[in-house]
Amino acid sequence: MTTSSGHPAQHVLISGAGVAGPALAYWLHRHGFAATVVERAPQMRHGGYSVDFRGGALEVVDRMGLLERVRALDTQMGDAAMMDAQGRQYATMPAAVFAGDLEVPKGELTRLLYEVTRDTAEYVFDDSIAALDQSGDGVTVRFEKAPPRRFDLVVGADGLHSRTRALAFGPKERYVRHLGLHTAIFSLPNYLGLHRTGQLYVSPGKAANIFSEGRDGRARAALHFADDGPEYDRHDPAEQRRIVAERFAGEGWEVPRLLEEMERAEDFWFDTNAQVEMDTWANGAVVLLGDAGYCAAPTSGRGTSQALIGAYILAGELSRAGGDPAAAFAAYEQGMRGLVAEHQAMGRDVAERYFMPPPSQEVLDLLAAGDPSHAAAEPAPLPYYPVR
Ligand SMILES: Cc1cc2nc3c(=O)[nH]c(=O)nc-3n(C[C@H](O)[C@H](O)[C@H](O)COP(=O)(O)OP(=O)(O)OC[C@H]3O[C@@H](n4cnc5c(N)ncnc54)[C@H](O)[C@@H]3O)c2cc1C
Repeated sequence: MTTSSGHPAQHVLISGAGVAGPALAYWLHRHGFAATVVERAPQMRHGGYSVDFRGGALEVVDRMGLLERVRALDTQMGDAAMMDAQGRQYATMPAAVFAGDLEVPKGELTRLLYEVTRDTAEYVFDDSIAALDQSGDGVTVRFEKAPPRRFDLVVGADGLHSRTRALAFGPKERYVRHLGLHTAIFSLPNYLGLHRTGQLYVSPGKAANIFSEGRDGRARAALHFADDGPEYDRHDPAEQRRIVAERFAGEGWEVPRLLEEMERAEDFWFDTNAQVEMDTWANGAVVLLGDAGYCAAPTSGRGTSQALIGAYILAGELSRAGGDPAAAFAAYEQGMRGLVAEHQAMGRDVAERYFMPPPSQEVLDLLAAGDPSHAAAEPAPLPYYPVR
């Protein structure tokens, strides 16, 4: 077997089947590489929040032949209402501000990426890398459950709390920068009868919202609060619920009902908004992709886009470099650094500005029209990599 550039096919292990992992598996196959994806969850994760796409990511999706299928997942959100504590609407949040060029449920997107790669990549669920040993031309990988295996390359696409990053680069404290903002998300009955819209409530240091979901009379709520702490156990949802409830006690609008629903929710999710800052994303035959290497924080609204673009460029550069990981990884970094820096600046800016007093209609209109401080520079054209 040879790759699209004629060198012997390599076997790549990808840790993580979120957005970046399956997208990379797709492109590696097109370039003639073999890919194995190991995912900690027992199956592809469904449900979850919606993610928006912008610019070059749609071009990548188009080159994958998936543009129509992704467009079919569009939540088609309309403008949303900004509400005051008494439940009166005082402004309108244009959809362009929170839904980008196209907004899709993340679970549907990852399911689609899985569907189009499951026959050409090996997927191993319910397992994780436990140790990496780089010796000779490759990496011996020990798993938590499966027997050890040898791969030519390992890609960490395992998100903000990446195990691959910890094993190959050191503890996350070195790389994860918290933005002082925490978010809880959960689904609930669509008791406000919202249809392709949402309501948002902002008070200093806090924001809450509820948006309709396409399915079965359900809606999704998010509660955000600014805090440089708090110390909490990442694996203790009861403690996390308690922290959120304390922060939002006494707030108006629909917040009391949302807190009740949060207690009942089976899909409660809580995390800090953080970015990953690293001098390099590669160490020998191990490289990071997506949030694992350069998370821009949910506040950037660009994480999905850069995961898709990163996967496209990484696979293309591996092919172009004829199997030389050092050359490929250097070119991948060069291709991505500018975009990531821009996205991370946006993520920090929105985290800071979001928790000021509620934005006026004027500010919202400016954002919708492409606030110059938020408008990305004209994206560099995507490189072209010949595929088989
Ligand atoms: C609340 C919220 C809202 C967001 N909104 C937007 C938005 O509007 N627009 C946007 O572009 N982006 C948004 N994002 C960001 C976006 O979801 C991420 O940037 C994007 O999913 C990154 O993809 P990824 O594949 O790198 O990581 P992830 O999607 O996080 O996938 C990582 C995968 O790795 C798996 N994993 C973790 N640890 C291990 C392990 N040890 N072994 C094996 N597998 C493991 C996880 O289970 C997961 O499947 C949002 C994020 C959040 C949290």
